[in-house]
Amino acid sequence: MTRNTAAKPPVTLLGLGAMGTALARTWLAAGHPLTVWNRTAARAEALAAEGAKVADSAASAVAASALIVVCLLDDDSVGEALDGVDLAGRDLVNLTTTTPAQARARAAWAEERGARYLDGGIMAVPPMAGVPEAGGYVFYSGSRELFEARREALAVPLGTKYVGADAGFAALHDVALLSAMYGMFAGTAHAFALIRREDIDPVAFAPLLADWLAAMAQGVHGTAAQLRSGDYSEGVVSNLAMQVAGTPTFLATAEGQGVSPELIRPYFELMRRRLDVGSDEEDLTGVVDLLLR
Ligand code: NDP
Repeated sequence: MTRNTAAKPPVTLLGLGAMGTALARTWLAAGHPLTVWNRTAARAEALAAEGAKVADSAASAVAASALIVVCLLDDDSVGEALDGVDLAGRDLVNLTTTTPAQARARAAWAEERGARYLDGGIMAVPPMAGVPEAGGYVFYSGSRELFEARREALAVPLGTKYVGADAGFAALHDVALLSAMYGMFAGTAHAFALIRREDIDPVAFAPLLADWLAAMAQGVHGTAAQLRSGDYSEGVVSNLAMQVAGTPTFLATAEGQGVSPELIRPYFELMRRRLDVGSDEEDLTGVVDLLLR
């Protein structure tokens, strides 16, 4: 491959953990001049051999490029790494996983120091970087000007989805999707526990489970439409009264299989509470409102 580094804007990357290293390689492969810094210098050696410039401090790394990408462990490490570093005139893109509140505070902190700020939530694992067909992407929020100006460079490692000027929104989207994922993992743990002691091959069971979850996942569109309209009875296929009536079957089956209901019972309790205050003809959307404090 012929590299045309002159045409590509320089990138500085702070943080060479598993994710930072994977991101770094994609910018190098795409021909961006890349400056890297990592607290533990040894982790930069392989990238130096691949063409990255290694800075001996975060400050000199930041001085090397107008676009600074940060991918550190958590918000505290970002504060530590950039403490006292001159950010004036820089475009700071923070891909470190944080809470929405930390992202908003970090945006204000960066803007006070004269930087444009974009926060990112990475929806990918390191091997997906630089592999567009793997479907990984980053949620971005914060400065739209920065996003538009740097879009091409940001799109090198992973896809890009801008979700708003509120710097907390990327983290919020990230955490919302991952929270749903953990709910799914909880459900699959319960399902596997139910069959665990039987003569049922988990490997044969897995595709049934995966296909069912994929089919049921489409239900989120109906939930979203109901949340938008406020009519929780719109387009209901399986009504709440019927579903609540079915929950003793699930609990009795768990009991019969010697499986703790601790992962599914809280959700059943919320369904019951919603039935007490909502309509029989709704489906499960009302549970969303019960979660709001
Ligand atoms: P790693 O644990 O592999 O690397 C952590 C990085 O943070 C290292 O570069 C480490 O430096 C640095 N670091 C930690 N504390 C400090 C500090 N106090 N000051 C300066 N540097 C510090 O993590 P990943 O690379 O996997 O993850 C980085 C970010 O990406 C995280 O926020 C993570 O949530 C996010 N992410 C990761 C994914 C993954 O699958 N890996 C997926 C999606 C998001 P040192 O080498 O010196 O220890």
